[in-house]
Parts: sequence; C-alpha cells; structure tokens
Amino acid sequence: MKELIKKTEVIILQGMDYRETSRIITAFSEGFGRIKLIAKGVRNPKSRMAAALQSFVNAEIVFYKKETSEIYLVKEAEMVEFFWDIHNNLLRFNYAAVIADFLSNLVATEQVSKILYRYSLFTLHRINQGKKEDLPFILTQFLMKSASIIGFRVELEKCTACGRKGFSPHYFSNPKGGILCEKCRKSDLHAVEMSKSVYHFMKKGWEHEEAGYYQKMRTEDFREVFLLFSNWFNYHTHRTLKTLDNYIKGKPFDIYYRTIESKE
Ligand SMILES: [Zn+2]
Repeated sequence: MKELIKKTEVIILQGMDYRETSRIITAFSEGFGRIKLIAKGVRNPKSRMAAALQSFVNAEIVFYKKETSEIYLVKEAEMVEFFWDIHNNLLRFNYAAVIADFLSNLVATEQVSKILYRYSLFTLHRINQGKKEDLPFILTQFLMKSASIIGFRVELEKCTACGRKGFSPHYFSNPKGGILCEKCRKSDLHAVEMSKSVYHFMKKGWEHEEAGYYQKMRTEDFREVFLLFSNWFNYHTHRTLKTLDNYIKGKPFDIYYRTIESKE
C-alpha cells in the first residue's frame, strides 16, 4: 500500500464524531482540494489537535495520503487562525456556513484550486470582521466569483442569445448561462425577469462597495439574488445549497438580520 506524508493548509468545513474518540473531518485544502480526514483520538481531552480541527478554523495539517483510501489519516494539526466572531455570532456563522456548504457540495472532490482556496479564506476573514450590513454583499461577491472559478460564470454583459448590450428588461436564463433580452426571452420559457436593482447590483454593484447600487439593495433584493444563485447552481451542478435556501425561506438568518436592521 503506497502511503505518502503530505502537508497542506486547510479550512475545516465540518466534522462528525466517529467511534469512541475520533472524528471524521471534511476540509478544503490549498494543495489537494476538498479532502476527508480521520483524526484519531481527537476527542480525548489531552488531544493537541482538537482546537485546530474545529469547523471554520484555518489550520496547517500533516496527513498520510493513501492511494487506496478515500479518507486520510491526520498526523499533525496546528491552528493558523480561529475566526472568533464567526464562532460567537449566529449571523456571521450562518453566512460562513454558506461558504462551507459551497465548498462541501459544489466543488468536486480533490479538485485543486488555489485561487478558490485563497478567495474562500479571504471571504471568511471578511465575514468574521466586516460590518454586519455588508454580509449579504460579501456573500454575493463570493458566489459570483466562485461560480466563475468552478466554471459556471454568469453572463450579465450581453444577451446570451443575440449578443446585444445595453437593453432592459433583463431575463435570466440558467440553460443559456445568463441574461436574455426581450426579443430572445422566448428561447427559454423558464427565463425569469430580474428586478432592475438586482440586475444593476449583480452587474456592477458587487464589484465595489461604494457603488450606489449596493446601498439601494433591500433584504428582499438579496433574497432575489440568492434565489437566482440557488437555481443557477442547482441547474448546472444538480446540487442544492441548503444554507442558501434557508436564507431565501427566511430562516434562520434573515430573521436575525431583520432584528439587527431594526436595532440600528
Ligand atoms: Zn437577445
């Protein structure tokens, strides 16, 4: 049995107790993409690896990569960064959960992308420290960029059927890969009309926070944005982002978001 010792930086996505003292962990790694790991004895109070292997921790790990196994054994784990605010604030936690859901479900196993790794880490930093009212914006930006990275870029510049630019209203089509104009909308009977603010926000507003489009976005508009992404990923990957669906259905983090809005 061929076995190699490897070292990589990871974002811990989720963990599950296994047997008496072990845990099975899913991590998105810089060098090997998404991997499954077993951490033996990690629930033992004396374990030095436990802290580094909690969800949403950025860690450096050493593991045995067996060619015949799908689960690799962790040898060492050291914490690089603990996102304190994500762990201690439900709203931030819920946003971070969408990032973990994306990396767990939409990225193929062991598909390596250093760009996606770095961008995910950057996004977790922003969710951890950014202003609470910026969180839907930070998430939109993540979904937009990550969709491109994994090969499902959303075309918002020109009509995907005739190539026309600068028209209105805009219809969004999953099979066509982006927007359609009024004339071409019949090429996809399921194409949905986008509200003006949502279209402009998705086209430009998410690129820079100071853009006016961003300030005009309401909770309802973000719901439309996330519904669009939810359908987009579902259509192209046949996978569901449950965390995003929770947002759309208004539980639990929209409710929390509203209470914050009303306080300020
Ligand atoms: Zn057209």
